[in-house]
Amino acid sequence: MEVKVLRNILEANDALAGENRRLFDRHGVTVLNLMSSPGAGKTTLLERTLDALKGELGMGVIEGDIATRYDADRIGRHGVPVLQINTGGACHLDANMVRHALAEFPLEGMRLLFIENVGNLVCPADFALGEDAKVTVLSVAEGDDKPEKYPAMFQASAAAVINKIDLLPYTDFNLAAATRRALELNPRLAVFPLSCRTMEGFEGWLGWVRGMVRDRFA
Ligand code: MG
Ligand code: ZN
Repeated sequence: MEVKVLRNILEANDALAGENRRLFDRHGVTVLNLMSSPGAGKTTLLERTLDALKGELGMGVIEGDIATRYDADRIGRHGVPVLQINTGGACHLDANMVRHALAEFPLEGMRLLFIENVGNLVCPADFALGEDAKVTVLSVAEGDDKPEKYPAMFQASAAAVINKIDLLPYTDFNLAAATRRALELNPRLAVFPLSCRTMEGFEGWLGWVRGMVRDRFA
C-alpha cells in the first residue's frame, strides 16, 4: 500500500519535471541539480563556479533550503540572479516547488541554471526537477564509505565532486577507494576531486560544466 502511494507521488513528480524540462528546452537553459549531505560544500562550489564562468555564460541559481535565505544571500553577492525556495520542513526539492519558483524567475538570457537541493544524501535522488544532470557533492570530512551507504545518489548522478581534498592529510579518507566505490555503482560517473579553498582540481569540474552547456543543443 505505502509502496503504491510512493510510486504515485513519484509519477506525479515526473510529469511536472517533464513540464519544467520543456520550459528549460524552450529557453535553451542547461540545468544542473546539486545534491549532497549538509556541509559538503554545495554553496561554496557554486560560488567558485559562478565566479569562474560569469564572464562566459548567463547563469542563475535556485536555492533550496528547509529554512533561511543564507545561501541565496551568499550567491547574490556574486552578481547572479538567485531565487530561494524554503521547503518549510520538506527534506528535498520536488518538481512542483521548482515550477512555482520559475513563475517568478525569468530564464531569458540564461544558459546555465544551478539548482542547489536541500542538504540530504537520501531522497533528492528520487525527485526529478527537470534537470539535465544531477551532481552529487561528497566531502572528504564525511568518510569514503558514503557511496556504498547512499548508492542511489551516485547511481542517479552524472558527476560527483569530491570536495575539500585540501583536508586529505588530516583525515582517513581514501580517495582512491571512494572513487572506485562510486564508479562500481555507476561506471559512467564523472568524478572530480577538488578543493574550493585551494582550487586544486577545479579546472576539471569547470570543463565538465562547460561541456554540459555546449552539448545541450549540439
Ligand atoms: Mg548550501
Ligand atoms: Zn526528502
